Amino acid sequence: MPEALTKEIIEKAKKNLSCPSQLFIDGKYSNSITEKTFDNISPIDGKLINKVTFSQPEDVNKAVAVARKTFESGVWSRSAPAHRKKVILKFAELLKKNGLELAVLDTLDVGKTINDTYTADVPGSIKNVRWYGEIIDKVYDDIAPTPYNSLALITKEPIGVVVAIVPWNYPLMMAAWKVGPALVTGNSLILKPAEQSPLTAIRMAELLAEAGLPEGVFNVLPGDGPITGKALALHNDVDCVAFTGSGEVGKKILGYSGQSNMKRVQLECGGKSPNVIFADCENLDTIVKVSAKAIFGNQGEVCTAASRLIVQDSIKEEFVEKVVKESKKMMPGDPWDPSSFMGAIVDKTQLDKIHGYVEQGKNEGAKVATGGNIMLKNTGGYYYEPTVFDNVKNNMKIAQEEIFGPVLSSITFKSAEEALKIANDTSYGLAAAVWTRDINKAHLMAKRIKAGSIFVNNYDEADLTVPAGGFKQSGIGRDNSYHALDTYLQLKSTWIKLADK
Ligand code: ADP
Repeated sequence: MPEALTKEIIEKAKKNLSCPSQLFIDGKYSNSITEKTFDNISPIDGKLINKVTFSQPEDVNKAVAVARKTFESGVWSRSAPAHRKKVILKFAELLKKNGLELAVLDTLDVGKTINDTYTADVPGSIKNVRWYGEIIDKVYDDIAPTPYNSLALITKEPIGVVVAIVPWNYPLMMAAWKVGPALVTGNSLILKPAEQSPLTAIRMAELLAEAGLPEGVFNVLPGDGPITGKALALHNDVDCVAFTGSGEVGKKILGYSGQSNMKRVQLECGGKSPNVIFADCENLDTIVKVSAKAIFGNQGEVCTAASRLIVQDSIKEEFVEKVVKESKKMMPGDPWDPSSFMGAIVDKTQLDKIHGYVEQGKNEGAKVATGGNIMLKNTGGYYYEPTVFDNVKNNMKIAQEEIFGPVLSSITFKSAEEALKIANDTSYGLAAAVWTRDINKAHLMAKRIKAGSIFVNNYDEADLTVPAGGFKQSGIGRDNSYHALDTYLQLKSTWIKLADK
């Protein structure tokens, strides 16, 4: 990967780009058995990128059968951890070697800026994959403290055939978060990218093959949710579905599991995260910058987006005024320009959904402090202005539902008790932040907010060594860290009777 991006480097990479389009089963690219395809549109300009294979239930059956056969063969599932480590580390190397191409593919596919894909998503994905490669020959099993004449071995086995269903907001990275831990633990995997973002997932298959992964261990089925995703999640020979996406679909996946073989389900289903600012916080200007980035970064298409600004009444006016000012520096621009902060919204449906919420917010009586407009229409693409709502009540739709766009709802409170009540008054529980100089208050809030990740005096700390996932309807299970391995491994207890003669 070149050190820094220039317009020339980007243009050259775009010119040399070839966009992958087919499904990948048993080490080979092919069309759907039914020859069906779907149009893959770039939100940058609304133009067709390519026609992509639309995997149908027939393809799902084929992929699952291949994944099962490969798993049972032991070619990967029973290979030495040191071997799996070698292959996964080689894969990380290949991600790096092809980093610019992968960044360009993701930008083209979903409209996020090349700066984001190149400097954050690709390096983040490489780091993640490498970390799981490195951990696998350091995971030990246990022996339980049973009576002297018995031995109970507690061992971890791969769960079997895993399906990863991923969203479009970080196409490469969300896939990498599942691919690393699922493969390194010895499973066979079928990856279903979102219909908006199939390109890097399809390309990944080639890189894994080049890294030496045996045929049939990794398969990719591009397609939609209701046909491809549903057939996968309902399949009786799939052992686990690892899903990141909306709560609505997460609930469906749980239902599919219950209707079929009770497969294990791991879910990360978004949030409506509170960002609580106390009047005794330190350095308001920095907090404003971090808070604005935490909602407008990645066009607000982030599951942990700080979408509810919960600010103490005595500093509310000043804070909102400063956030509005900051938002002006975060206008959407050409995603190919390395200096753009925001890029395009993923598709027309999502753009309309965001605008619909903004209209709804106005109808419910919230005040638009800034924004509220569709932008850059002349590009043919889908862009939205950073938007701040003031005077929001926490029971309004814009404060309760995940918008997944650059829309901030500002709510005020008087006491810590009230802030806590508002923060927890949500069906979600993914992330939350508290800003205060009072260590006592910070700890108590952190203990009592029901969320998987709490940020104290920050909103941007993240590391793959730390688990990510939600309380309440934000999900089940965790990505990242060694805790993510729990999704892809199952425990076996083996009792051995010892005859002490
Ligand atoms: P978003 O609202 O962010 O687009 P979704 O939850 O709709 O999130 O989509 C996330 C992933 O879930 C995508 O890969 C999508 O194709 C898939 N998906 C959508 N509906 C279903 C479904 N009924 N069954 C299985 N997967 C689905």
